[in-house]
Amino acid sequence: MSNRTLELTNELYEYILSVSVHEDEHLQRLREETASHPYAMMQIAPEQGQFMAFLVRLIGAKRIIEVGVFTGYSSYALASALPPNGELIACDVSDEWTSIARRYWKEGGLENKIKLRLAPALETLDQLLKDGQQGVFDFVFIDADKENYDNYYEKSLELIRVGGIIAVDNVLWGGKIVDPEVTDTATEAIRRFNKKLYEDERIHLSLVPIADGLTLAHKR
Ligand code: CA
Repeated sequence: MSNRTLELTNELYEYILSVSVHEDEHLQRLREETASHPYAMMQIAPEQGQFMAFLVRLIGAKRIIEVGVFTGYSSYALASALPPNGELIACDVSDEWTSIARRYWKEGGLENKIKLRLAPALETLDQLLKDGQQGVFDFVFIDADKENYDNYYEKSLELIRVGGIIAVDNVLWGGKIVDPEVTDTATEAIRRFNKKLYEDERIHLSLVPIADGLTLAHKR
């Protein structure tokens, strides 16, 4: 028994996957195909995808924004949890990576729910704000360049409704977050971001130690 989060051994992790994670055949193949990609570590963990899809269902989300698509595992998982009239705006700058995503969205019958915006995500978020989309989104997943986390967060907070959720990936950054010798710009940006959210009274906060650390901000 333990009253703190367990250290995950390989055995425990495999066990969690074996008794909890459900992926459809497309999602499973997408994960396998991405595993051989040079940037495979940018793919989210399957239990994390399922957890976020759970949250999407829990809050009855209809409109989602994803900042950072990569090869599309998270957008596939999130869009699968949306109702038929739901919409996910997927922001990324890489045509190459998202071409893999688009292939799987189509295979899974999700291409009508997912609107890909190939542009810097800050531009897409600014455009949504210009179009008067404040408060109309239910869920945002931020998983892109860490230096811009705070900018993505501030714009997302305007775009989601009260009771909406912003989920932010990699907030434990492979453990580097607590290594004082690591002071690169990305690590420092995540440190500042974590500290800021801890003091942010506009949200309820939970930092979930799943995968590489997932912060949940629930808008008050
Ligand atoms: Ca990530």
